[in-house]
Amino acid sequence: MKWRGREGSSNVRVGGGKAAGGGIFGIILGLILWLVFGVDPMTAMQTGSSIAGGQSSDSVVAAEDDANRDVQFVRVVLRDTEQVWQQIFQEQGLTYKEPILRLFDGRVNSACGGATAATGPFYCPADQQVYLDTSFFTEMRQNLGITGDVQGSGDNENQGRAGDFAQAYVIAHEVGHHVQTLMGISQKITEARRQVSEAQGNELSVRQELQADCFAGVWANRNQQRVQFLDEGDIDEALNAASQIGDDRLAQSSGRAVVPDNFTHGTSQQRVTWFKRGLQSGDIHSCDTFGQNI
Ligand SMILES: [Zn+2]
Repeated sequence: MKWRGREGSSNVRVGGGKAAGGGIFGIILGLILWLVFGVDPMTAMQTGSSIAGGQSSDSVVAAEDDANRDVQFVRVVLRDTEQVWQQIFQEQGLTYKEPILRLFDGRVNSACGGATAATGPFYCPADQQVYLDTSFFTEMRQNLGITGDVQGSGDNENQGRAGDFAQAYVIAHEVGHHVQTLMGISQKITEARRQVSEAQGNELSVRQELQADCFAGVWANRNQQRVQFLDEGDIDEALNAASQIGDDRLAQSSGRAVVPDNFTHGTSQQRVTWFKRGLQSGDIHSCDTFGQNI
């Protein structure tokens, strides 16, 4: 996926909440360097990647570079979603309101309650913010079988990492929930859920999740038309991610029995199908997961 050198969003906030500032990563890094390697924290924060030293310092610097890269990456992807959804809303005679994306480390308080890294990426309709924990990228690289940079591939500025687009897809899915909120869909589902059985309520949630997948596909289509950001293999990568985070796969890999009525995200196959539908059409009207068989 091509993303370097493109405009980033100003709606990304780094840190857990009101008290935490943008410099939290620098402070933590400084403390780690100080405690482990005896490097003066202030020096560490100022010199950044220019710290000389052995293997260990290098790996800390690499971790910092990864963190910077992740923040920049999230900014670009969020900006891409802003551009595309602004355009789509305009076409529908609607006004798009940009969400805030909060990158947090460890734990965070949202208007929907407290969350930790274990919660996974989520969207909170009450404060209209997307929440993403910083360990999410590392875990995606490890758990989804997504490897890092191709070794020795040189420093081509436009060279993406394997896994970039899978990460972008997850962000686009969460933004999809924001779109559902702006369009009043989420509120209708919340209403409807109050009046039906738990199993029926879960099915509504599945349809809501699949629609967010479809919206992510619509975004990918429209963004490709706009900036040609996709590389060979990106779509397979996203579909792989979509299938890996289907509820059935998660249930299997965590050793729980797969009980369809407890699904809230849909099966792997359903997620792939709806993402593709949005991707191929580039049209939100193809994402009517409530009026069609899923
Ligand atoms: Zn979702």
